[in-house]
Amino acid sequence: MTGAGGIRTTCAYCGVGCGVVMTPDGAGGFSARGDEDHPANFGRLCSKGAALGETLGLEGRLLAPIVDGVEADWDTALDRVATAFSQAIAEHGPDSVAFYVSGQLLTEDYYVANKLMKGFIGSANIDTNSRLCMASSVAGHKRAFGEDVVPGTYADLEEADLIVLTGSNLAWCHPVLHQRILAGGAKVIALDPRSTVTADSADLHLPLKPGSDVLFWSGLMGYLRAHGHWNADFAGHVDGLDPAMPYPTIPEVAAGTGLSSTQIAETYALWAATKRVVTIYSQGVNQATDGSDRVNAILDCHLATGRIGIPGAGPFSVTGQPNAMGGREVGGLANMLAAHLDLENPAHRAAVQSYWASPTIADKPGLKAVDLFDACADGRIKALWIMCTNPAVSLPKADAVRAAIANVPFVAVSDIEAETDTTRLAHVLLPALGWGEKDGTVTNSERRISRQRAFLPAPGAARADWWHMAEVGKRMGWADAFNWSSPAEIFAEYAAMTALSVSFGKKLDLTPLAHVDYDMMAPVMWPVGGAERQFADGAFPSGKARILSPRAGAAPNAVEFHLNSGRVRDHWHTMTRTGRSATLSLHIAEPFVEMHPADAATLGVAPASLVRLSNAHGDVTLRALISDRTSPGTLFAPIHWTGETASAARINILVEGATDPVSGQPALKAGRVTATAL
Ligand code: SF4
Repeated sequence: MTGAGGIRTTCAYCGVGCGVVMTPDGAGGFSARGDEDHPANFGRLCSKGAALGETLGLEGRLLAPIVDGVEADWDTALDRVATAFSQAIAEHGPDSVAFYVSGQLLTEDYYVANKLMKGFIGSANIDTNSRLCMASSVAGHKRAFGEDVVPGTYADLEEADLIVLTGSNLAWCHPVLHQRILAGGAKVIALDPRSTVTADSADLHLPLKPGSDVLFWSGLMGYLRAHGHWNADFAGHVDGLDPAMPYPTIPEVAAGTGLSSTQIAETYALWAATKRVVTIYSQGVNQATDGSDRVNAILDCHLATGRIGIPGAGPFSVTGQPNAMGGREVGGLANMLAAHLDLENPAHRAAVQSYWASPTIADKPGLKAVDLFDACADGRIKALWIMCTNPAVSLPKADAVRAAIANVPFVAVSDIEAETDTTRLAHVLLPALGWGEKDGTVTNSERRISRQRAFLPAPGAARADWWHMAEVGKRMGWADAFNWSSPAEIFAEYAAMTALSVSFGKKLDLTPLAHVDYDMMAPVMWPVGGAERQFADGAFPSGKARILSPRAGAAPNAVEFHLNSGRVRDHWHTMTRTGRSATLSLHIAEPFVEMHPADAATLGVAPASLVRLSNAHGDVTLRALISDRTSPGTLFAPIHWTGETASAARINILVEGATDPVSGQPALKAGRVTATAL
C-alpha cells in the first residue's frame, strides 16, 4: 500500500513492530520515517528503524543458488534439496530430518515450513531461533491460560500508574515502547542486575542478584495474600490459590536477592496499592533454566489480584524479533501445531491433518533448538535446512554447534548473506529475499498483525523463503498442497485455518481476514473483531487460569564470574543488516566486556585493555569497559559480533547450553567464565 509519499511497511527489527513509511530519497535509495497512523508507534522510530534506508545495499548478498560451492540454477538446487530430504526420510525415517528457522521469517514463510514438516514429512523437528527469545513466555502463558496469549495492549503502558520492568533493557532493545512509557508518566521500577539505561531512567532500580527472580515474585505473592490483596471477585476464574502455600518471607527474599528488606517491602506495598500495574518482562526472564517458572511467578501475581485484561494492568511479554509472535501462531516451535493447536491432542492433530488433507501428521514434539543441534552432533539428523538465521553464532556452545552442523550429511541454508558462519557449512545455498524485497505479515508483541511490503525488486535470482519450501514440497511429491502463487494465498489459507482454533475454544481468530484485500490490509489485532484486551471477563481458554506457585531454586553458586549477555542499542542480532550502517556503528564500534571496578582492580585490568574470558567451551578476547553499571562478580558482553577465530567475540561459544526443562529455552544469560587480563 502506498501511503502519502511512500510505501507503508513494518520495521525489520524488534517485536514492537513499528510502522514505517519508505520514501524514495531522490538519489536512488530510500529513507524511512515513522508511520503516524500505525498503532504501535504513531510515527515514532528508534535509531535502528530510522536508519533502515542505510541498510539496503547488496554488498555481501547471496544472489544465486550455490550447490557444492558452485553457482547453479534453481532447478538444480531445489532438486538436490528435495532428493536429499526424500532419501534421508526413506532410509532413516521422518525424524532424521530437521528445519531450523527464524523469527525474522514472515508468517507466510513460517506457515509453509510447518505445513511441510509436520503435515507432509510427518516430523515435528522444526524449531526456531525464537526458542532463544520467548519459549519460556509461551510455556508460561500455556500453563497459566491454556493458550499462548499476551493479555494486554501497548495502550496499557500509557494508562498504567506503575510499570515494573524485569529482565528488560527496554530503552535499548525496544526503544519506542520505552518512549511510550515515558510519555505515559507511570512510575517505573526496573529489576535488573545491571545499571542499564532503562534502569537509569526508572524511578527505582532494584539490582537483584542474577537467578533470584522467582524468589522475588513468589515473595510478592505471599505479601499480597498476607495483606488481603488476593482478589475474591476474580478468584472464581482461577485455580491454585492456596491459603496455606509457604511463600518466602521478606527477610528470605532479601537474603536471596541481595536487596534490602526495606526496598522489598516498599516495592511490594506499592505494587499492592496500585490497581493499574503492568509488569513487562523480556529475555532476562526468559533466557534461564527456570525461565518458565519466572514467567509463571509473574503471572501468578496478576491473576491472584485480577490485574489482567483491564486498562493499564497486566503481565506483558515483550518479544525480541519482528515475528516471534507470528511464528508461534502458525506452530513455529517443535512442540506446537499450527493455529495454536496442540501436538499432544489427538483431536487437534486430526483437525489439522484434515484441513491440510495431508498424508500424515506429526504426533509427538520434535527436537527443540539446543537438542536439535545435539542430534546433529551425534548423527541422528541426516538432512538439515536452516533458514534466515545464523545458529553457528547465536546458539549456546556456538563452536560445538558449528561442528554439529558440519557433521550433518546434507545441509541446505536459505539466507540473504553469502558469507556467514553458517552458510560456510552448507552443501546447498538458496538466495532469499530480504526486508524491503519480500511481502508478507508479521505479528508484534501486542498481537497486532501488520504487513511487510516490498518496495525493492528481487535482486539477482533471489526468491522468497516460502517459495523455496513450496518448490521443494512439490518436488517431494505434494504438488497440490504447496501450489501457491503469492503470499496472499498462503495468508488466506492460514487465516481460514484459525476457524479450527476457535472451534477448540482458543482466542486466535483471523477468520475475518481470510478474504481481506491483502495489499490494503491495515494493522489489526487478533482475535480479529474481538476485545483488544483479553481475560478481563475471566474467560480463559483452559476454563480457569492456573496459579503455578513455582518454588524458588537455590541462588546460583558463586563462580569466578557470571557472564550476562544482551544487545547494544544500535545493533541487531549478528549485524548482517545494522553492520551496513555507518551511523549505527558510531554508537558502539567494537565488542567489549563490562566489568565492575572492584573486579578490574583485583585482576589488574586497565580501562580499554584486553581481557580473555575462558571456560571449558573456549576463549573470547574482548576490550574491557570498566563500569559500576554491572555488579561485582558479573560480566556483561554484547551478542552481535561474529568471526572465524577463537579469539573473535562470538560470546555464545562460552554459554553452556543448559535449558529450561519446560520450554527448552537456553540459559543465554548464565555463562560462567574465568577472566584474565592480557
Ligand atoms: Fe524498529 Fe523496534 Fe525501533 Fe520500532 S522500536 S523502530 S520496531 S527497532
